[in-house]
Amino acid sequence: NLILAFESSCDETSVAVIEDGHKILSNIIATQIDSHKRFGGVVPEVASRHHIEQVTRCLNEALEEANVTYDDLTAVAVTYGPGLVGSLLVGVTAAKAVAWAHQLPLIPVNHMAGHIYAARFVSEFHFPQMALLVSGGHTEIVYIEDEYHFQILGETRDDAAGEAYDKIGRVLGVTYPAGKVIDDWAHEGNDTYHFPRAMEKENNFDFSFSGLKSAFINTVHNAEQRDDELNKYDLASSFQQSVVDVLAEKVMRALDQYPVDQLILAGGVAANAGLRDRLERDIETLHPQTTLIKAPLKLCGDNAAMIGAAGYVAYNHHILADMDLNAVPGLEL
Ligand code: ATP
Ligand code: MG
Ligand code: FE
Repeated sequence: NLILAFESSCDETSVAVIEDGHKILSNIIATQIDSHKRFGGVVPEVASRHHIEQVTRCLNEALEEANVTYDDLTAVAVTYGPGLVGSLLVGVTAAKAVAWAHQLPLIPVNHMAGHIYAARFVSEFHFPQMALLVSGGHTEIVYIEDEYHFQILGETRDDAAGEAYDKIGRVLGVTYPAGKVIDDWAHEGNDTYHFPRAMEKENNFDFSFSGLKSAFINTVHNAEQRDDELNKYDLASSFQQSVVDVLAEKVMRALDQYPVDQLILAGGVAANAGLRDRLERDIETLHPQTTLIKAPLKLCGDNAAMIGAAGYVAYNHHILADMDLNAVPGLEL
């Protein structure tokens, strides 16, 4: 089984060839970060144009690096949501063109299911499962009773975790995306500011990060007005400690209620070193019967390999699309 996969939901154009759902033959990623940096975030119009410019090159490179031709392919998988509509349409159109021209089945893949399946490259999946999905646009706890049956137990009511990192990063003068730099700074400082941990003790699996973001911004502005010295390492550490505390505490409580074989950590923010360490420790002490599977660092961000891995499972479940497949920007799991 060879799946050609396309991903273009946000600011990465990516094409991959995946063998049997878990072996990466190629995974070409063209990132547009440098084009969006000066705007402090992704500009949709700019993003679509980049995807159009990059998708054919990525496709050719992916086939070449995998050393396969169109005749070798079993099916074509593509992200059709959630994401930016203009960006999604580029991948969807490219995938449809290849599928139509070469008479291949077309597999529609949810981007967030893709993030979960990034973890498939480090371990086989056993069910039931839980996933902590933390990314630029989403923060969700997902219960997966059986293969490809996703149930959202809780989610953010305002900002996503990655979005919060990017917003507070901007206040500290860190260019988009700020997550990695804040994560690095956090390890040089201490939690001296004690920012709020919203909804931590509430009896649900939802999150809220906008209060934390405001508290952070107020702290910085007030200090600036008083000409007080601010320690960016302590600020980063305090912010990260608050985010990690809430994420870890809620997931551990979800596991109390829904015992599972595996806990999957995935999405762009899953690259966070503080979060990875904390979940490892918490699982060991609180839920030793559950195995933590962290998406590989290189596959936490957007890529087509994860779409191919999810697409393989969707294909086995006969989830296929026709040539009228459209982008669905607000698609839910
Ligand atoms: P979504 O997947 O919800 O549609 P997206 O695809 O834009 O959104 P991803 O590419 O999955 O998001 O993740 C990008 C986010 O991950 C950015 O907000 C970035 O700051 C954050 N991020 C990356 N590395 C780290 C890190 N080490 N610590 C915290 N956040 C990080
Ligand atoms: Mg991105
Ligand atoms: Fe993503």
